[in-house]
Amino acid sequence: MTLSETQHDIIRLIKTHKTIIIHRHQRPDPDAIGSQMGLAAILRASFPGKTVYSVGKQYPGFDWLGKTDSIEDDVYKDALVIVVDTANQPRVDDARYTMGNALVKIDHHPNDDPFGVPMWVAPDASSTSELIYDFYAANQDNLTMTDDAARLLYAGIVGDTGRFMYPSTSPHTMAVAGALMAFNFSASAVNQQEDEISLPLARLSAYVYENLTVLESGAAYLKLTDELLEPFGLKDESTSSIVPLPGRLGEVVAWAIFVESKDHTFRIRLRSKGPEINELAKRHGGGGHPLASGAVAHDDTEIKQVIEELDNLVQRSKGE
Ligand code: AMP
Repeated sequence: MTLSETQHDIIRLIKTHKTIIIHRHQRPDPDAIGSQMGLAAILRASFPGKTVYSVGKQYPGFDWLGKTDSIEDDVYKDALVIVVDTANQPRVDDARYTMGNALVKIDHHPNDDPFGVPMWVAPDASSTSELIYDFYAANQDNLTMTDDAARLLYAGIVGDTGRFMYPSTSPHTMAVAGALMAFNFSASAVNQQEDEISLPLARLSAYVYENLTVLESGAAYLKLTDELLEPFGLKDESTSSIVPLPGRLGEVVAWAIFVESKDHTFRIRLRSKGPEINELAKRHGGGGHPLASGAVAHDDTEIKQVIEELDNLVQRSKGE
């Protein structure tokens, strides 16, 4: 693999900064954390004289992917900040990401909100973890992969490809996963960890299948209010594992899950097997990938509107 000009600029910035702070998005998933912690592990092993921090809220469910660091504001002075896996600036976890000496974006979402110099944005990549591996592979003179970095990047790829099931999984993705598996960690332990759900989530999964509304077009939806989640002992952020479930039904083409947030708006989680849903998400204050997006509905009227738009979109795609 050869080094692109952007990757060259990134490695130059890494070399010229003694302190590197890595941020990722709020409400993280295994790719956000895997790419963040994986890059941090590579940089620590490659440049023992540098100090590398990973920042952002720690979620106990993700302790197996490492722990974030708490740092004071003055650490940002003269630091290089790298934001991974985050398309939009309001979603960056820890708003201090602009306080460094230089800012770099490494991401695989559509570049709806360009920030950072340089930006390395590759929407065709399965995951940001895949990009971090590519960065290592093109820079082997400078960078060292460790077993734990390989485990973290593998976890990110598994997470964002839905265990290599989503169309974003390319031959290159499989080659990268294979190269990572050659390091010393248990890939099956990672797969099992990501597949594991708690009993409350298993019960919520049953609720999803029992209560999902499937329209004739193949559009489907479900609303999860606070009141409903409470007896399951679950909060909105712990519902990620139920989002892919409607897609297992053959008749479902695209779906929306509305999850009530603390402020009583509804987080919309949109998924599709074909018709692109990210423009719909953008119309409702969100964005994301063509087949996996998120947005916000402020009330029941907006929820109805989103369902109608999703239904129309799926119907239109069938006519094409
Ligand atoms: P989620 O349903 O939260 O897993 O989100 C799926 C994808 O949609 C994420 O990878 C993000 O790229 C994107 N996304 C979710 N929420 C938002 C938002 N409020 N604004 C922009 N993009 C979002």
